[in-house]
Amino acid sequence: MKSKDQIFRFLVDHTPIRGQLISLDASWQKCFQQSDAGELAKTLLGHALSATTLLASTLKIDGSLTLQIRGQGAIHLLVTEATNNRTIRGLVRQSREVDNPEASLKEIFEADKIVITIDNGIGKPHQGIVPLSGSNLSEALEAYFEQSEQLPTRLWLACNESSASGLLLQKLPDSSTTEQHEDTDSWNRLTQLASTITDQELLELDENEILHRLFHEESIRLFDAEPVRFQCSCSRNKTSNMIKSLGKSEAEDILVEKGKIQVSCEFCNAIYEFDSVDVKQLFESIINLPDNKTTH
Ligand SMILES: [Zn+2]
Repeated sequence: MKSKDQIFRFLVDHTPIRGQLISLDASWQKCFQQSDAGELAKTLLGHALSATTLLASTLKIDGSLTLQIRGQGAIHLLVTEATNNRTIRGLVRQSREVDNPEASLKEIFEADKIVITIDNGIGKPHQGIVPLSGSNLSEALEAYFEQSEQLPTRLWLACNESSASGLLLQKLPDSSTTEQHEDTDSWNRLTQLASTITDQELLELDENEILHRLFHEESIRLFDAEPVRFQCSCSRNKTSNMIKSLGKSEAEDILVEKGKIQVSCEFCNAIYEFDSVDVKQLFESIINLPDNKTTH
């Protein structure tokens, strides 16, 4: 039985290579249902969710990691986020039909970069920009690791309506491991073996079956699963801050026009409402702060 909504780490003994496997179902479906978009857009969302969760896990971030592609194309927005608590959320937005589904990501999004934001909750979030190159998200993200982490990394991603899955392999620098690896060809050998995985196998086989199918001649150490779940990080407090950033006069204009300010979260459809009393309190609390500081 395939394990769902879980991420697994594994090590390949006697080599500098580590890996991760992810399988998302309920969490993926939640994001998928929230996004009113075509098949290609949803496939990209599934790939991005798996990749973002793998990235957040392998980089051992303490906070959240967000992947964003924003452009003028038929698919104009893709945002996925994973946290250190293994919670994920994501959305994709499409404004018109994709003329050529075989086109490059650059053409589909009419964008030239992926923005990766790592927010540890202290100080300014760290942003990395990756060129939106290659024919799929895996290739573009592999370039991110080359560039920013200097760790050779390969990703295999697959998704259908019920699941989104992924496999990541990463070669650690020799200096980071105590044992000397004489198996110098291991990276080529393991990535070639991993490249034989089909989307269907990645989606349907469980972690043991996948590792056996690919690496049955290697000695693999598989660690316990960590559960992944959908959880939105929106809150009334964050929405209040957003209204504060609009400024008092704009907020009051909306109140005059609509009677209340209603903000809905695109990731989870939660609705936050603020009436005139709420809005008055929001701006009073700003004035009461000594240095007019707002928190994020
Ligand atoms: Zn939300």
